[in-house]
Amino acid sequence: MPSADLASHVFELVRGCLNPSSLHRPGQRARALVEEAREVVRSFVGAERKDKIIFTSGATEANSLALYGALAARQSISAKLGRVISTMIEHHSVLEVLQELSGRGTKVELVSPAAAAISSDQFASKLSEDVALLSVMAANNETGLVLPVAEIARLARENLPKVLVHSDAVQIFGRLRCSISALNADMLTISGHKLGAFSGVGCLVAREHVPLLPQLRGGPQEGRLRAGTENLIGIVSMSEAIKQIAPTIEQRGQAMLELREHLWSSLSRQCKIAKRLFSQSETLPNTLSVQFPGIRSDDLLVALDLKGISVSAGSACASGRPDPSHVLLAHGFSNQEAREVIRISLSGSEELAQLEIAAREIATLASFNSSKNINCKGAE
Ligand code: PLP
Repeated sequence: MPSADLASHVFELVRGCLNPSSLHRPGQRARALVEEAREVVRSFVGAERKDKIIFTSGATEANSLALYGALAARQSISAKLGRVISTMIEHHSVLEVLQELSGRGTKVELVSPAAAAISSDQFASKLSEDVALLSVMAANNETGLVLPVAEIARLARENLPKVLVHSDAVQIFGRLRCSISALNADMLTISGHKLGAFSGVGCLVAREHVPLLPQLRGGPQEGRLRAGTENLIGIVSMSEAIKQIAPTIEQRGQAMLELREHLWSSLSRQCKIAKRLFSQSETLPNTLSVQFPGIRSDDLLVALDLKGISVSAGSACASGRPDPSHVLLAHGFSNQEAREVIRISLSGSEELAQLEIAAREIATLASFNSSKNINCKGAE
């Protein structure tokens, strides 16, 4: 959610605006805001003047447009399907599209990560000449693990000059300085709410040469690549949020990192069973994954929530009990181990005193649950 200041600034900017496709003045004011936002995003992601900046309803839609849209366009040109390579730790908005494509005959291969990392070498053997598209996230939303997208893309392009590289870069932008060329990608996905904008807005950035077919058809909006009246308030909020964070990404990242390390040193001092997962140098600065062997993370999560401390565990599911994270399972954790992990995401604005309280509460609840021996054995 945007801060109250940003939200009221955005409301002020869009006050009196109407449909950006209308020719009257309130419509044209809205159009000017949308086009200004496009340029803000372009500069933020380091895209060139002719690259496509396509506003969508969020990263889920942008990922769908990238995968379905690029493959459909390619098929319409060459009639050959081509293989898709991705990873087992992608967000569900990528994995479910790939599963659906696979059900319709596209060959999809998912690279499984090593215990605590994913390396470009793991892709080398998969890059045969029929690979059409590579989709590799820039950083994982559960573990914060940063993936070597640029190196994987370089390997792919060495042998496959026509391969397209897409990266779901939702988690990295705003936390580390990044750009489409730093990722060596042809397409990248970002999401507004991860940058401090309202939720319900995102963007697919596609290099000029990338052929794409729209997945929503109708009006001529977004260069005919995404029909539908633009979400003006969302788009403007994304642009204003980017203007706010872009100049200070390094400082924000450093602040998050220092807070995270402070939290971990306090927590590990007070709770000897806490086990930190993933190397701190290979993860986003705001993310901390901790395993509490023998303790169910959802019990811990609920108890912490009652204390006003929000952490996450696994992935949400219809039953209300989070499923064990597909990401941790892919990294080789057992069902039970995956159910013992909580992830803590910091915004960078936390006070040290708040983190001390959080560490103490987590340690107290962990030792209480550990003494009750609430564990996952036999509870699958
Ligand atoms: N991809 C990643 C890595 C995410 O973390 C998320 C959500 O946070 C999404 C995609 C989906 O984003 P959205 O909610 O904007 O559709």
